[in-house]
Amino acid sequence: MRTAARIDRLPPYLFAEIDRKVAEARGRGADIISFGVGDPDLPTPDHVVEALREAALDPATHRYPSYVGMPELRSAIASFYERRFKVSLDPDNAIQPLVGIKEGIFHLPVAFVDQGQVALIPDPAYPVYETGTLLAGGVPHLVPLWAENDFLPDLGSIPKDVLERASVLWLNFPGNPSAATVERPFFEDAVEFCMRHDLLLAHDAAYAEITYDGYVAPSVLEVEGAEECAVEFYSLSKTYNMTGWRIGWVAGAPVAIEAIKRLKTNIDSGIFDAVQRAAIAALEGPQDQLRDTVERYRARRDLLCEGLASMGIEVSPPRGSIYLWVPVPEGHTSESFATFLLEEAAIVVAPGNGYGPSGEGFVRFSLTVSDERLAEGVERLRRVVA
Ligand SMILES: *Cc1c(COP(=O)(O)O)cnc(C)c1O
Repeated sequence: MRTAARIDRLPPYLFAEIDRKVAEARGRGADIISFGVGDPDLPTPDHVVEALREAALDPATHRYPSYVGMPELRSAIASFYERRFKVSLDPDNAIQPLVGIKEGIFHLPVAFVDQGQVALIPDPAYPVYETGTLLAGGVPHLVPLWAENDFLPDLGSIPKDVLERASVLWLNFPGNPSAATVERPFFEDAVEFCMRHDLLLAHDAAYAEITYDGYVAPSVLEVEGAEECAVEFYSLSKTYNMTGWRIGWVAGAPVAIEAIKRLKTNIDSGIFDAVQRAAIAALEGPQDQLRDTVERYRARRDLLCEGLASMGIEVSPPRGSIYLWVPVPEGHTSESFATFLLEEAAIVVAPGNGYGPSGEGFVRFSLTVSDERLAEGVERLRRVVA
């Protein structure tokens, strides 16, 4: 049996590798504290679980769901955008529910990047922008995010011949792994850039609600012109501690949504209706648990930042996301520091180079560790990083 060349070219998924190393260390009896995967440790709100329970008992939810999502869900999403961003979206042609946004992000290049065409991808970034492009036969062009530029891409530095072959620009704010945040003028420039170069702007807003210190993340769809050239991916995973539920959506330019719909009818058969009803409960129900979740992350962020500072590792507290993007000590690479922490402190972090070559020299700490284990982690760091 022979695997296809495209599978041979596909790197193993970063976290599949980390999971393997952790399982190995646990097998040796190590008491691991994992700051690796960004998978919320706090529970899904009770009223959302209850909505699922009730919906699952209704046989009407047991059949194939609609390809385009329940009209009630699309209306709830449109109301959310109106409330949250003052953006009007037509529920029928500007919103497509997704089986978690990883699914939509992976598939987008199939609809928008022809063989040999370029997708502009931030570096470091969530790995799926690049792997989706590669499997679609596209060419990733990495746009580096430097600390000196607050981890924002310099769009003006992209060579002209690359732009001529490009069809998609990926952005992600608050960013994973860099935790970078932007204000609306950044999106205004990006939309103008994409109009000028005939690009689809694909913005991943997975962390739009996880923000601190009074910062409120903008939507790219707030910007004039975005309705013609931009889509935004929005996930319930991090906002409502629902990573296991697999639900999110893509919203924006109807021409793009139409293409994604056509593609998806050929791939999956929608999201379990009971999960869609639970998503409506999440969007329309009480939001106090979201505020509590964010406050917990803020306290953890501060504790970890202080702990790192006392070891001489300065990280300014990010205004968004669930990550700290931490420069490694002198003399270490991302990999060597991650290995050092695993072997000496039984602490797992994600090596920055796994998010792209410009991630070299950093490791990512996720804040999805219980308060108690996080405090223990900080103690261990103090012991080994001296
Ligand atoms: C977690 C994450 C996702 C995946 O979201 P799902 O809806 O759970 O698939 C996408 N993008 C970024 C940047 C993420 O961190």
